[in-house]
Amino acid sequence: MTSVAIVGAGISGLVAAHRLRRLLGENARIVIVDSAERIGGKLRTVDMGSGPVDVGAEAFIARRPEVPELLAELGLSDELVRPSSTARPLLRTGGALHSLPVGTLMGIPATSESVRSIVDDETCRRIDDERSRPLAWTPGDDAAVGALVSERFGPLVTARSVDPLLGGVYSGLSDTTSVRAALPTLAAALDGGASSLGEAVERARPTPAPGPVFGGLRRGYGVLLEALLASSRADQVHADVADLTRDSGGQWVIPGVGAVDGVLLAVPAPVASGLLVGVDRALGTELGALPLASSAVVALGYDACDLPENSGVLVATGELDSTGVPLRAKAFTLSSRKWPHLAERGGELVRVSFGRFGDSAIVDRPDDVLIDAARRDLQDVLGITDVPTTAFVQRWHGGLPQYRPGHVARIARIDAAAAAISRLELAGAYLHGVGVPACVATASAAALRLAAAL
Ligand SMILES: Cc1cc2nc3c(=O)[nH]c(=O)nc-3n(C[C@H](O)[C@H](O)[C@H](O)COP(=O)(O)OP(=O)(O)OC[C@H]3O[C@@H](n4cnc5c(N)ncnc54)[C@H](O)[C@@H]3O)c2cc1C
Repeated sequence: MTSVAIVGAGISGLVAAHRLRRLLGENARIVIVDSAERIGGKLRTVDMGSGPVDVGAEAFIARRPEVPELLAELGLSDELVRPSSTARPLLRTGGALHSLPVGTLMGIPATSESVRSIVDDETCRRIDDERSRPLAWTPGDDAAVGALVSERFGPLVTARSVDPLLGGVYSGLSDTTSVRAALPTLAAALDGGASSLGEAVERARPTPAPGPVFGGLRRGYGVLLEALLASSRADQVHADVADLTRDSGGQWVIPGVGAVDGVLLAVPAPVASGLLVGVDRALGTELGALPLASSAVVALGYDACDLPENSGVLVATGELDSTGVPLRAKAFTLSSRKWPHLAERGGELVRVSFGRFGDSAIVDRPDDVLIDAARRDLQDVLGITDVPTTAFVQRWHGGLPQYRPGHVARIARIDAAAAAISRLELAGAYLHGVGVPACVATASAAALRLAAAL
């Protein structure tokens, strides 16, 4: 009987378990091990009184096929919901609220037109003149997004337009985020000979397509996690795996699980590093060089509260509140405006996010301090003074891997080293994209390779 162990029951591990059951058949022994009390990793759905609410990821890019296809496979297509088409996001910058610039690539403009309302005249001139300044880029190069944008367009574009968007997706800042990993189409345009950043952005921007970009799940991600676990018919083991070895017969040995034919590690990079350093030192070291950013989400529920008709607010770096103290929140999601299925339940729901790579001390403050910071920043940014009837604090230690300059090359080395180890596969958000669709794709490919090797 073929046996496999999957370490990590986040979306990556659960998708792998589901796929392996289909690939290996009913008789295979599939074990999924996790150190946490619940499945899901960075996905978590809680009941805020009015119904289930996601306090980790709350959406996915629905223009990518992976999640809609997975939902269809599991008979869950009815769960797919779309955000409001009329509620637009706002940007808090320079002490005021603005519409989030449109026509940018992750906040990087092609011309000054899209960011005119949020930067000064000198920056606008600099953006427009940029096309006449020679750009030094050798195909295959990488750079920090912030360094590239600040050098070409000036630091205001970075702080006011790029950082708020990257802060949302990577919990990072543009100064530590790789162009090649985070903006592959921009890297391709630069490799392809674009003569300026403006021209590269123009080439790299996605072609506008009708319909919403994002999707969500009516009853939250919990429904998908449970369906994947059920479909995998995996044995669940609750253990903090600290050791991975091979016995004399070539089988993998995991304490608490025993000997298995194949292993799929779907844990964060530092954990994979610890497990593999004794198997392949160089691979363990490469994995250990991938840092994580911590963040926290405070979900606030109101019986009633006067929210604007917007989906949320992103906060630029360096924003001060009305007393001159830096705002603590990096983003507000006005969930009951953004998602019609949440609005239908009555009441209002807001998610306030804190913490960025290198600036995450707030994440470990007590719950009451985080709730108070969320309410004070909400009052400062949106004038909301209502008292929430419910509050939930979720900390995400090591929530998101950082895609720093050189990330793509490092992952290529990791993939090559892992491929040389028989019947071992890696999956997870640190490899080929942090979003849920990318995790689904990476885990599916890893499961396919492992099944082929068994
Ligand atoms: C606040 C936040 C908001 C996000 N929002 C979005 C969004 O809106 N859309 C989107 O697409 N993506 C979003 N993401 C990203 C996405 O949620 C994650 O990248 C993804 O869920 C990661 O899944 P994973 O399975 O790779 O890793 P994880 O979820 O980290 O799972 C790893 C699992 O391994 C287990 N584990 C760790 N160490 C051990 C050990 N030693 N032994 C056994 N088990 C172990 C953990 O308990 C965990 O269950 C968000 C992330 C965060 C933090």
